[in-house]
Amino acid sequence: MGQNIRTGRCVVAVDGPSGSGKSTVSRRLAVSLDARYLDTGAMYRAITWAVLRSGVDPADAESVAKVAGEVELRIGTDPRGYGVTVDGTVVDKEIRGPEVTAAVSAVSAVPAVRALLVDRQRQMIDNAGRIVVEGRDIGSVVAPDADLKVYLTASETARARRRSAEDAADVTATAADLARRDKLDSTRKTNPLQQAPDAVVLDSTELGIDEVVARLRDLLTERGVQ
Ligand code: C5P
Repeated sequence: MGQNIRTGRCVVAVDGPSGSGKSTVSRRLAVSLDARYLDTGAMYRAITWAVLRSGVDPADAESVAKVAGEVELRIGTDPRGYGVTVDGTVVDKEIRGPEVTAAVSAVSAVPAVRALLVDRQRQMIDNAGRIVVEGRDIGSVVAPDADLKVYLTASETARARRRSAEDAADVTATAADLARRDKLDSTRKTNPLQQAPDAVVLDSTELGIDEVVARLRDLLTERGVQ
């Protein structure tokens, strides 16, 4: 890769724990680069919504894999607004609800679910050409040859504060939920949340969104891909 971001292929991989600011940063970066944007967490959430709709226990890996293989999942890549549908039903709001959030780490730990979605994500990246992709395993598994890999993090307190403000939820309960999901996401056997060895680590605890986006643009310029 390493081609010009305005004219050719360019993939930016943004990984990190929940509440690190990945979504906001990735969307803004994509808009500023006139690139596409892929929220892989939304794909795992959509499958989880389908699993819950079908009454399947998220801990039942075999049945979860079956549901994942049968549903028709669609997701847009416009950073200004992308829709997620499952079997034709718009689920943008539903996939952010507490039921899905509570079950998504179990569903995303199922190897067959990951294989299916990683495949889809790679196809979408290939088709997009220029894209910012956010998730947990993008730099390590989905796009190991990305032009820029970023591992975005922030203190636990900052992450809980941001998430609870977004969800209008209690900070203590949000902190507990983030800690639970981070533990599950980073200790699962298949494609856990991890920092790719060649990722640039950015701690956003003391940085505003605009500062983080500006740093990423500088990194792309340094690499000659902007
Ligand atoms: O990014 P978001 O918090 O919406 O992701 C929801 C969940 O989806 C994560 O907690 C994780 O379990 C799963 N996920 C994943 N791999 C990705 C993206 C998200 O396992 N690439």
